[in-house]
Amino acid sequence: MRVIKDIHELIEIRKNLHGKVGFVPTMGALHKGHLSLIEQSKKQNDVTIVSIFVNPTQFLEGEDFEKYPRKDVADMDICKRMDVDILFMPNHKDIYFEDEVCIKAPKNKSYILEGYKRPTHFDGVLRVVLKLFHLIKPNVAYFGKKDAQQLYLIKKMVLDLFLDIKIVAVDTVREESGLALSSRNEYLSHEDRKKALLISESLKHCAKSIMKGIFRVDILKAEMFDILKPLDIEYVEFVDRDFNTIESVQKQNSIVLVAVKVGTTRLIDNLWI
Ligand code: AMP
Repeated sequence: MRVIKDIHELIEIRKNLHGKVGFVPTMGALHKGHLSLIEQSKKQNDVTIVSIFVNPTQFLEGEDFEKYPRKDVADMDICKRMDVDILFMPNHKDIYFEDEVCIKAPKNKSYILEGYKRPTHFDGVLRVVLKLFHLIKPNVAYFGKKDAQQLYLIKKMVLDLFLDIKIVAVDTVREESGLALSSRNEYLSHEDRKKALLISESLKHCAKSIMKGIFRVDILKAEMFDILKPLDIEYVEFVDRDFNTIESVQKQNSIVLVAVKVGTTRLIDNLWI
């Protein structure tokens, strides 16, 4: 595995890569969710490139950018064991420039849900992903369904900007308890972790209700709110796969999304119906 920190070195090496290139962008503190993306890329491509970059522009003032878990040494070791071909770990100053040209996330779908209380979050996400796409020039890029709105917006960016990159959506990896893996789970105390299980419990309950034939969103939402009551609920929303809000669930075309705070930690999860 080659670890590359310098963007010019990456550009040179990329010129000489042959075959299909798969790309897995991450912010590090790698867990089994990330590994599932890497595994898929390894299976489907000749070369797999993983990036680790804690992207400052997607954090808002006062968010956890400074304290976001950084585990470069352990992450390098994991990538090596996964037989990643290139691990790209750029510096902030090489990625961003003063008064630079930058992309704006679409108005309607970026300022709802994850973007409602974090209005510039998706501008930052698309900005860095587009830069990484230009540097790495992947044929295929892998994103988790756990960040469903991010996945939708990245697919939209690829379409809107005519990028020739296939986006592969990877299922959410969970602990046996049901808790979706996330780098931010590290912030959870033992007690918080137990409380956080209510998130996946509420999603499972929702799935059961739908199986019983309940499709009305107001009823499903009320049931989920009841389960999530002990937590600080930011939103429970139902959307179609284009992120339009819906009043009735349609199988194969709906997503239920949850954002809560457990203690001081903000967690998100979802279920694709
Ligand atoms: P992050 O490092 O949190 O920016 O995540 C990097 C990529 O891993 C994103 O595409 C995430 O959606 C994906 N990811 C994060 N957690 C999981 C998970 N539990 N299962 C599958 N993919 C995940």
